[in-house]
Amino acid sequence: MAAHRGLIFSLVMVASVAARADTVLHNVTGYTLTGDGLRSFSALAFGDDGRVLATGDAGLLTEFADAGHTDGLGRFVLPGLIDAHGHVSNLGVLLVSLDLKGTPSLDAARTSIAGFAEANPAARWIQGRGWNQVLWPVKEFPTAADIDVVVNDRPVWMERVDGHAGWANSMTLEIAGIDDATPDPPGGKILRDSRGKATGVLIDNAMDLVESRIPPPDKNEIRESYRRAIAALVRLGLTGVHDAGVSLPQAEVYLSMADDGELDMRIYVMLEGAGEVLDAIGSPITAYGSDRLDIAAVKLYTDGALGSRGAALLEPYSDDPENRGLMRWDEAQLLAFTRKSINLGFQACIHAIGDAGNRLALDALEAAQGGKPSPLRNRVEHAQIVALEDIPRFAELGVIASMQPAHATSDMNMAEDRVGPERIQGGYAWRRLLDSGAIIAAGSDFVVEDANPFLGLYAAVTRQDRDGLPAGGWYAEQALTRVEALHAFTLAAAYAAQREDRLGSLETGKWADFIIVDRDYFEIPATEIDDIKVLETWVGGKRVFIANQGD
Ligand SMILES: [Zn+2]
Repeated sequence: MAAHRGLIFSLVMVASVAARADTVLHNVTGYTLTGDGLRSFSALAFGDDGRVLATGDAGLLTEFADAGHTDGLGRFVLPGLIDAHGHVSNLGVLLVSLDLKGTPSLDAARTSIAGFAEANPAARWIQGRGWNQVLWPVKEFPTAADIDVVVNDRPVWMERVDGHAGWANSMTLEIAGIDDATPDPPGGKILRDSRGKATGVLIDNAMDLVESRIPPPDKNEIRESYRRAIAALVRLGLTGVHDAGVSLPQAEVYLSMADDGELDMRIYVMLEGAGEVLDAIGSPITAYGSDRLDIAAVKLYTDGALGSRGAALLEPYSDDPENRGLMRWDEAQLLAFTRKSINLGFQACIHAIGDAGNRLALDALEAAQGGKPSPLRNRVEHAQIVALEDIPRFAELGVIASMQPAHATSDMNMAEDRVGPERIQGGYAWRRLLDSGAIIAAGSDFVVEDANPFLGLYAAVTRQDRDGLPAGGWYAEQALTRVEALHAFTLAAAYAAQREDRLGSLETGKWADFIIVDRDYFEIPATEIDDIKVLETWVGGKRVFIANQGD
């Protein structure tokens, strides 16, 4: 009887909480940017509809006397951060595969594989990465038989820590058609025992024999990987992400997750290319599923990456005088896709790394936009090395520079080797772009970089790596102020998605997307910005993450 009464009592309590429409979070040190600059507050009121009612001081407690009052315990509030360029499916795939990094022995690796297979009964393939036999007591390559003991009814494929070798069980070798007679493919090697029998480890191009047989993820698998990725991203204080390259099945999964109320953060989709996927979607989908999903942009490409010398340069590489890199798409294809995207009302987001790649992207946008700014606010993704004379074109054409601050500090030594001391003046040139009137939207390019936005804010403000090098910062005059860096990760990222009317700041009528963190972004030494920990993440007035004590 007592138990029943307790149950009824708690149901009544739930009902009364639900009926209490508004919330005032008070006793916080909060900040938001607005159209008029930085505003601080000690209380935030938001409605049951998930929108901000007001920011202010303790006076909000009397102004909203009927609201629920939540003590913020003196902690720190920022607007939810938005990553303007990340790869959600790549993150999800990492999270649904087994991480063997640091495994101390073959036995430990085998135990992990067995446990992972058991925990993922629906996985058609058991995949993972990160093993390194050099760390094991017996420093020999493992074998297929080592896995067969624990998993022999499903294929297993584990990449080595450097990505240059893979470890298969016998079922995988069979599926890949590898037997004693299979020759080593060019650029690859099938490890064999003294009798010529394939042992289960494949090197470099031989890995393709397996990887070409792994089926693309089905929609259930995509959905599961998105769930895990989104859960990981909201932990980091991200309330929005611009997903830079989404296939048709992936877009369909997003739509169905939005239908089911499963998107705990706001996703802005860049469709992959302007081919079939764009034909299938047809016209932009905006503010879908309670404003959680926009499919309104297209990812296009000029060149490749700087590290592998795939970035297209106007003059040869400083460290490879015969090489100017290469364009992934030619000018005609880029222009056709840019025009098609824009004509259908999709924002064009063009990947460009080298100065020739950036010039081609700007040329294509200039042509497709008729030489003037477009209401679509088209974007150049990365804008890493830009010829100085091209920098003003971003502002002139209203083209957003979608940049990743952590790339500068990860790439700095390599980048200067590649392009030399003169061209680097237009490299990661945030200050020059801002001074020219351009808008910078910031992101991380996860999984290339860590998705933690505080690492990006730290890199933007310090131009130093996490060890504080170089002292004083790399071309420190290009650093952003803390206000500019926060702007790039909030309002400017919202602007880059045409959503600054509803997202990116804590102002009346906008979504109550905010985070509670453990220290004051504006008051701590810049060297601590990368140490900021997210305690809670709220999206549309609902808490989607709370840190455990001791996290
Ligand atoms: Zn990317």
